[in-house]
Amino acid sequence: MTDEKKLIFVTGGVLSSLGKGLLASSICHILRNSGLNAYCMKIDPYLNVDAGTLNPHEHGEVFVTLDGHEGDLDLGNYERFSETNSVREQNLMMGEVYFSVLSKERKGVFLGKTVQLIPHVTNEIKERIETALEKTKAEILVLELGGTVGDIESELVLDAARQMKYEGIHSCIFIHLALVPVIITGEEKTKPMQHSVKTLLSKGIVPDFIIARSSKPLGIKSKEKIGLMCSVPKDFIFSSYDLPNVYLLPSVLKEQGFNDKLFKKLGYSNLEFNDSWADLLSQKLGKKVKIAVVGKYSASGKDAYMSVFEALKHSGYNLNVDVSADLLDSETLDINSLKDYDGILVPGGFGSRGVEGMIKAINYARINNKPFLGICYGMQLAVIEAARSLGLKNANSTEIDESTPYPVIDLLPEQKDVTQKGGSMRLGGKKILLKDNTVFMDLYDSKEITKRFRHRFEINPDFTNQLSKLLVFSSTDETGKINKSIELQDKSHPFFIGVQFHPEFDSRLTNPEPLFFNFIKAASK
Ligand code: GLN
Repeated sequence: MTDEKKLIFVTGGVLSSLGKGLLASSICHILRNSGLNAYCMKIDPYLNVDAGTLNPHEHGEVFVTLDGHEGDLDLGNYERFSETNSVREQNLMMGEVYFSVLSKERKGVFLGKTVQLIPHVTNEIKERIETALEKTKAEILVLELGGTVGDIESELVLDAARQMKYEGIHSCIFIHLALVPVIITGEEKTKPMQHSVKTLLSKGIVPDFIIARSSKPLGIKSKEKIGLMCSVPKDFIFSSYDLPNVYLLPSVLKEQGFNDKLFKKLGYSNLEFNDSWADLLSQKLGKKVKIAVVGKYSASGKDAYMSVFEALKHSGYNLNVDVSADLLDSETLDINSLKDYDGILVPGGFGSRGVEGMIKAINYARINNKPFLGICYGMQLAVIEAARSLGLKNANSTEIDESTPYPVIDLLPEQKDVTQKGGSMRLGGKKILLKDNTVFMDLYDSKEITKRFRHRFEINPDFTNQLSKLLVFSSTDETGKINKSIELQDKSHPFFIGVQFHPEFDSRLTNPEPLFFNFIKAASK
């Protein structure tokens, strides 16, 4: 018999992108900082098996866990707010659920039964929630249910949640977040919220809490109206409004008395919330530091590089500087605009679009002594920039130009035969050996670190001798053969580092990642 755990289901109404992930993360932060062993889980309705094949420019960043899962960007919020590392079981996409049910059907696991959405698919969802509980050893799991209540594709996930409450193995509560728009007259309109709660009720789910998402704090009249129409007492209705900084949400909820109500509902008494972020967030930030993140233009904007922008912010808070980071489109980049920035960052990426602009930006940073941080693709492009500057004309990565005369970035033989796209990269936490007498070693003050990777291509060892005129290869993989980071021979440059891994996934508000911290430190001088 499974132990009784507590499950908090977070549903969304009216629109997507209301900040359900941030709400789930903030609840997890509140619970953990009150001494409880809480974790988050995200269940997405898509037919994708994981986020690895989703275009980040449509869907936002692909977040990589230490155990090598390519997850939804909200996993990053969970890690940053809960100050824990996630495991792959904390992210479930419906593609994986269907895949598993259909494989079981082929194996005859269902013993000749008719295989149906209910119970077979919903059972699979419930089993995956149990697995997440086991893997995380959580006493409380905050489950963010992706999509919007009323979507066809969300039905089965909602029904699995309903069944879990009805079965009573775990104690379950429901928190519904929905939009309350403020119209031009300043009036708060609760009708869309009312409809979304009615839809939820029609699925057999009664929300215990309602969180209204609006541009300003929700007025008492709206609370009373929502309470009356939705049968939720008004003191269980809270407000999540536009904030200058997402990390303020836990304390905004606390100030409204949310914590006490939540603890009581979960059956806890005498819990004390330790607001560990208060000092960092309440400081008056000093001078402005402008960072150019030179990436591809994308419909999802900064979300395509969410962890990078968050990591920059974390370092700013710990250095008492006001980091203002812009995403510059590398395809249309005007190199002169880089003058106005204190540092240049080229993030990860794939494919050939926009790379020449990124290479120009790297060249600008190297020649003009601008602090530079290159992450994954950003590092590979810095190697290409160095090669071209050393006279290797048309040097390139074979990802961009297969017939380049100087393939300074190339696939290793074992990657050359891989045809499957999903899950076929070098993924997750891997050991890196740092070399003595390098800036890199100084930053980490360690001979060995573990960092997260997500890539196929590598620095081609055939060119390292030639490139050593300009670059120092400051670390390798475990075999000692493949280089994983670069810096400059020229020690007068204030900061110029490229790394094959993704430092942005490890950064926390109270524990900024060393590369970001030192990049911002250099940029603020
Ligand atoms: N496209 C490059 C590779 O596959 C870099 C990947 C990345 O930046 N995440 O190696």
